Amino acid sequence: MMRKLNPCLFGIALFFLGVCHAVQAANLVSAVRVWPAQDYTRITLEASTAFTYKMSYMQNPDRVVLDIDNIELNQTIKSLADKVQASDPYIKQIRSANFQQGVRLVVDLKAAAKPNAFTLTPTGAYKYRLVLDVYPALDPLMAMVEELDASTTHAATLPVAPAELPAQTPPVASTEPLVAEPSVAANATLAETAPAATEGPVLKTWPVEIKKTGRQIIVAIDAGHGGEDPGALGASGSREKNITLMVAKKLKQQIDAEPNMRAVLTRDGDYFIPLHGRVVKARNMQADLFVSIHADAFTKQSARGSSVFALSERGATSASARYLAKKENESDLIGGVSLDDKDPILARTLLDLSQTATINDSLKLGKAVLGEIGEINTLHAKRVEQAAFAVLKSPDIPSILVETAFISNPEEERRLNDEAYQEQLCASILNGIKKYFSTNPALAKSKVAYD
Ligand SMILES: [Zn+2]
Repeated sequence: MMRKLNPCLFGIALFFLGVCHAVQAANLVSAVRVWPAQDYTRITLEASTAFTYKMSYMQNPDRVVLDIDNIELNQTIKSLADKVQASDPYIKQIRSANFQQGVRLVVDLKAAAKPNAFTLTPTGAYKYRLVLDVYPALDPLMAMVEELDASTTHAATLPVAPAELPAQTPPVASTEPLVAEPSVAANATLAETAPAATEGPVLKTWPVEIKKTGRQIIVAIDAGHGGEDPGALGASGSREKNITLMVAKKLKQQIDAEPNMRAVLTRDGDYFIPLHGRVVKARNMQADLFVSIHADAFTKQSARGSSVFALSERGATSASARYLAKKENESDLIGGVSLDDKDPILARTLLDLSQTATINDSLKLGKAVLGEIGEINTLHAKRVEQAAFAVLKSPDIPSILVETAFISNPEEERRLNDEAYQEQLCASILNGIKKYFSTNPALAKSKVAYD
């Protein structure tokens, strides 16, 4: 027999149904970010539970469609539309709409592109993330890696000069927006460094230019962290990624002012580059030296001073060096590298090659730079330390990592933000580099005499 439904119970049942529904659809996107760079543009969505999604690519017009299950179309997702800059090299606009039990994101592209979507589990300050990287149709980094891989059997032919690469010219369309966007061209300093931040077609023109002006020493400056990866946090809120970029740009200015030197940046804006990508860029730029700029942090605010690191083939020289290398290498976890990426190929390529000679040169370079920095700041470690920093793994480019100071120390954080101090710091790094070349004329000569 059917009993009359108690309206109160009915109400409670409805309430629970509502709660259940709300719980089921509770994967709320709490943050969205768009990081445009010259190599690729990254779109990130962040939520408290894992994402499931399906990606597809459609043409006429070119667009990427992401169907994300079980999320609510909230204001945060809708705000993606406002986050796309007109100057974005690849993305025209982002649209969002309800789709089945979730949300459909449509990323309209300016030209044909290669999308890569992947998810990341919580790391550092971040929750679950869904990342969509939009690359140019021909990934210049991939082309470079394939080229490198093919050349491992002829290690003697390294370094691979970009000019010697086969003419793998990507479709014209993929580079057009870069050139055409007024905001890219309008920024004089960015325009100046533009070739440095891009592998592939843009780069092809400028090693030639260097050869023409002749006999220049090329220094690759790597501003640590960037984009999704903020690096260390200062005592009063400064972020390592911003400090490193400021210092890197100043150092570039000072180096470029030298008659026989030229600096190139691995990044010139606030975006993430995987560690191996930084190494590949330095090689691609035919750099003679690689200097990675960082700012240290420690749980105790009293920790202070500068230090310089080189790569170690076997184990770290101290526990703190090991700790720091681990921390700096976590960058890829935080910034997010896709698992189906080209890391294994590159790692093999680089590790196949002997690095002993390069490490010796790195130690000499590090010593010279450390000596100069010692004139303007306390030294945290009196000698060049060594550990397995991923970013220092160029087989043939002397590479050092400079921990400029402790951003976690209030006094040093203040100095790191001070322009005059930044200038001093860069001058001492430059002096160290010059000293290194003056005592290693053979290296300088072989480099300058090679054309
Ligand atoms: Zn760092």
